[in-house]
Amino acid sequence: MNIYFDCDYTILAMDGSLRPRTREIFSQLIEDGHKVFIWSGVGMRTKDMERLDLMDLISGIFVKPITEFENGLDRFNVHPRPDFVIDDHREIVEAFGGVHIEPYYFRAAEDGQMDDLYQSISDFSETGKSVHRGFKSPPDME
Ligand SMILES: [Mg+2]
Repeated sequence: MNIYFDCDYTILAMDGSLRPRTREIFSQLIEDGHKVFIWSGVGMRTKDMERLDLMDLISGIFVKPITEFENGLDRFNVHPRPDFVIDDHREIVEAFGGVHIEPYYFRAAEDGQMDDLYQSISDFSETGKSVHRGFKSPPDME
């Protein structure tokens, strides 16, 4: 699957630090045959991804539409189409399917959300379903 991650409060805290286990989960997803993409509603986050040393794991970086998601894919030249999105905003997850993740505001070593997320992506990839609290089916699968 083409898996799209939001930046702020999804993989980045307010202080710019990376959510625990993000790098490990990106690696694991790639090992499982997925592709990891980054997008953000506030612009291209290439510098942040370089700073966090994640560029070797990322297949593409895009500006994220924050309204009119479908048209936004064209408007911002987002390709390939997202199969699964992870975001702290519910609306975009409902538009494409994925996981509405608990926001990560403050640096917290004990945050375990990325491991729960990995389980959800694996389950969805294998069975088309997930029991994750924040999981939303892609609209075309409902
Ligand atoms: Mg966000």
